[in-house]
Amino acid sequence: MERQAVKKAREAFLSGRTRALEFRLQQLTALQKMIAERQTEIATALKQDINRSQYDTPLLELIGLENDISLAIAKLAEWAAPRPVERNLLTIRDEAYIQPEPLGVVLIIGAWNYPWALTLSPLVGAIAAGNAAVVKPSELSECSSLLLRALLPRYLDQDLYPVVTGGVSETQELLKQRFDHVFYTGSGSVGRLVMEAASRHLTPVTLELGGKSPCYIDKDCDLRVACRRITWGKFTNCGQTCIAPDYILCEASIQGKVVDGIRQTLLEFYGADPKCSADYGRIINPRHFNRVMNLMEGYTAVLGGQSDASQRYIAPTVLKDVPPHSRMMQEEIFGPVLPIVTVSDMDEAIRFVNEREKPLALYIFCSDKLAVKKMIEETTSGGVTVNDVMMHYTLSSLPFGGVGQSGMGSYHGKHTFDRLSHMRACLVRSLGMESFNLARYPPQDRQRARR
Ligand code: NAD
Repeated sequence: MERQAVKKAREAFLSGRTRALEFRLQQLTALQKMIAERQTEIATALKQDINRSQYDTPLLELIGLENDISLAIAKLAEWAAPRPVERNLLTIRDEAYIQPEPLGVVLIIGAWNYPWALTLSPLVGAIAAGNAAVVKPSELSECSSLLLRALLPRYLDQDLYPVVTGGVSETQELLKQRFDHVFYTGSGSVGRLVMEAASRHLTPVTLELGGKSPCYIDKDCDLRVACRRITWGKFTNCGQTCIAPDYILCEASIQGKVVDGIRQTLLEFYGADPKCSADYGRIINPRHFNRVMNLMEGYTAVLGGQSDASQRYIAPTVLKDVPPHSRMMQEEIFGPVLPIVTVSDMDEAIRFVNEREKPLALYIFCSDKLAVKKMIEETTSGGVTVNDVMMHYTLSSLPFGGVGQSGMGSYHGKHTFDRLSHMRACLVRSLGMESFNLARYPPQDRQRARR
């Protein structure tokens, strides 16, 4: 099944039909139509998978996707056009340009937390760049996965863009096949397996991984606004967002105010009992529920802490004075638990960040522009948003991706197109003006004699 899908996609790619920009535009328009027509079904699938609120699905997944497609449609001719480059003295009369061209067959492996955006956003770039793509959604978000498998062939070319569902063994079987690029979103441990499998075919990879994204709150900032934005980013999708702020760093003097601000916001967002709120999600499955519960063991929550295994419910939880070297601070939380670690000042926060793996995102809340600049300059991360969380993801002009352990390669908008294209170096010379070329031909003796 997996092998067959890849074989068909390869044959369809070799037919050459993806070369024409009109064809790519037609496929992108069909994908746009699918999302517009199937919003309700998609939102229902996500409600079943992760108890995502109907309101959040368009906001968190579909609007961004629609914008991505509209941008690709509007800009395709420009992106795909030859890109002239500077010439030197020897090539001054020639044509020198970079021609983006399709790579071939791309494998897209998605994660379950945003199963539509994380598979279809790379697919938009794959289609725009003229590739075939095998889409492998996560088995954990099963309803979305099955719906994607049912919908995509009704709108798109069935051979070029097959959806393969299934779990570990199906993914491993796919990874044995030869692709021209593997685009993986998920955990670092599986990312390593993906890279290892791809290396057997010398296939390049994009790895969109996770990690612990720090959120530093300076005492010089509007805490009310900061706490509202952080609470939204952390507890949306029940904390299961790769760029959610994983933990807070702040001075001990403002810790109490931060807790108060989050308490007040949680009440505004989800009411007195988040379990009854239609806007509050659930943990994807029992394994992840137990993983997050284990992480919380031994802590007394200053906010939240309640849970219900039968619903995979964990209340929005905040922990105070978490020791920097505790288990909570070693692995990505990926759930609705927000630890606060106190630091003496921004310099200590910078050291704290730099002593750990390079994060996918870094958040800085601070009104002092110079201090912000210093923190950006003295740290590294896949992306950074100042005075908000997660919003850099929404700007398709910014490359989205990790660095170090949080991933390699980036995408969104034109970056996805470029990532999934081969940038072919083209030099078109004329056969005239041969006298200028004689100096490079042997024999060298004759050259000397000529001089
Ligand atoms: P997951 O379990 O759904 O796995 C992702 C994909 O890998 C799935 O398609 C799955 O079938 C496949 N897979 C799982 N085990 C495999 C194996 N042994 N061999 C081959 N394939 C296998 O998702 P996950 O890994 O739980 O996702 C959560 C992680 O993803 C978090 O670390 C999160 O930060 C990260 N993430 C990153 C981004 C990003 O854009 N950088 C987005 C979302 C999630």
